[in-house]
Amino acid sequence: MSSRRAVTTFICSAPWGVRLKSLPSSRHHLRSARAFSTALRYQSRGTEYLQNHDPDFTGTQHTVRESIAKICAKFGDDYWLRADSEHRFPVEFHQAIAQAGWLGICMPSEYGGSDLGISEATVMMQTISESGAGLAGASAVHMNIFGLEPVRKFGTEEQKQRMLVPLIAGKDRACFGVTEPNSGLDTLRLQSRAVRDGDGYRLSGQKIWISTAQVAEKILILVRTTPLEEVTKPSQGLSLFYTHLDREQVEVKEIPKMGRAAVDSNTLFFDGWKVPKEDLIGEEGKGFKMIMHGMNAERILIAAEALGLGFAALRRAALYAGERKVFGRPIGQNQAIQHPLAESWMELEAARLVIYQAARMYDAGHETGEYANAAKYLAAEAAFRACERTVMTHGGMGYAKEYHVERYLREVMIPRIAPVSREMIKNYIGERVLGLPKSY
Ligand SMILES: Cc1cc2nc3c(=O)[nH]c(=O)nc-3n(C[C@H](O)[C@H](O)[C@H](O)COP(=O)(O)OP(=O)(O)OC[C@H]3O[C@@H](n4cnc5c(N)ncnc54)[C@H](O)[C@@H]3O)c2cc1C
Repeated sequence: MSSRRAVTTFICSAPWGVRLKSLPSSRHHLRSARAFSTALRYQSRGTEYLQNHDPDFTGTQHTVRESIAKICAKFGDDYWLRADSEHRFPVEFHQAIAQAGWLGICMPSEYGGSDLGISEATVMMQTISESGAGLAGASAVHMNIFGLEPVRKFGTEEQKQRMLVPLIAGKDRACFGVTEPNSGLDTLRLQSRAVRDGDGYRLSGQKIWISTAQVAEKILILVRTTPLEEVTKPSQGLSLFYTHLDREQVEVKEIPKMGRAAVDSNTLFFDGWKVPKEDLIGEEGKGFKMIMHGMNAERILIAAEALGLGFAALRRAALYAGERKVFGRPIGQNQAIQHPLAESWMELEAARLVIYQAARMYDAGHETGEYANAAKYLAAEAAFRACERTVMTHGGMGYAKEYHVERYLREVMIPRIAPVSREMIKNYIGERVLGLPKSY
């Protein structure tokens, strides 16, 4: 069998091979598959091989998968490579997703959303990442998908109209400001303050790692309105604002970092930043509870983004291992190459089942976080292993930018660290599921 034919056969018969009938033009995809095998070094159109066999997917989920894949197909690997190399926000991608109406996937239709659930948003984020857009593509829209859940849940009607409508339409971009340099994962001890001042508040403090603050017009920010010493519980006295990110009053400085260079991360400094009282979300002092509300959903979405990247990597590894010949045979014929990839497929599939279970439970009203946390942990670890093995499968070329997989490996570190670390997830499971004493 020629190597070209071997790749085509592999794609059609592989368990994550695309369901040819379900896509608009199977002929086109087969042709592209052949083209892909010969042009592997220059351009891959990862979206054409999306895993799409989940028998549990509902009709709506299949529609989301196919519609998002079609949009992603317009943004090939070269687009993401360039965005990464030039540190350039993927504006066109963000706009394409917005214009097709997907930013409001799980927001109410009266504000321009689609009224779907986290189960569908999970499909969307997995598909974006799996298309080869990776964490850069996912992070470019992530905040729009679920970040404003506190506004939807606790905002006034005036706030929902003013805040949700432009965000869903893609006119506003928003960032999320919680993490601080001096408190890290211990969110309840964050030090940024908001003090009442006439018809508004004055905010002073600093935030770190705030994604998209270079391009965002708005910020959802958590600050303390009552000092820690004056509250009975540390979870009290924190307040949430959704407001204009006024660069005259807030210094935004980009952090040079390891990966996801297309989507910036920043430190924010502010001292006496005037914020109108109309931008306070819900009741003053109750901000932490509001933030908690969306946390499980965010973990499920991040898990899906990690999963997508893991599958994208694995697909590349398998294609390369089938093509690359050393010692007179494809490297994928060696079990030392083949077996780790087979393990990764099983690990990713296992993570996928937990992610979609967590999403279903979330949509059904389940409130505690054991499945959302487990999904985030399992997906991030499985995806990391898949990306690492993919780089190793490519040998020296794994280290070359033109093969894209080194970018995947740099990006896949993010879901292991944020929005919550592996250790904090184990703390949660140890304490809340196993009933062990709190360890910190
Ligand atoms: C690329 C990127 C994007 C991000 N985007 C955003 C954003 O948009 N908005 C935002 O608010 N934040 C964002 N973050 C911040 C992210 O959520 C935090 O980095 C993360 O929560 C970890 O906090 P930290 O970095 O302060 O780690 P630390 O709290 O300093 O922890 C450091 C290490 O110690 C471990 N550790 C700490 N305490 C314990 C304990 N009790 N038991 C066991 N281990 C412990 C942690 O697990 C971790 O491994 C982003 C981070 C990155 C890297």
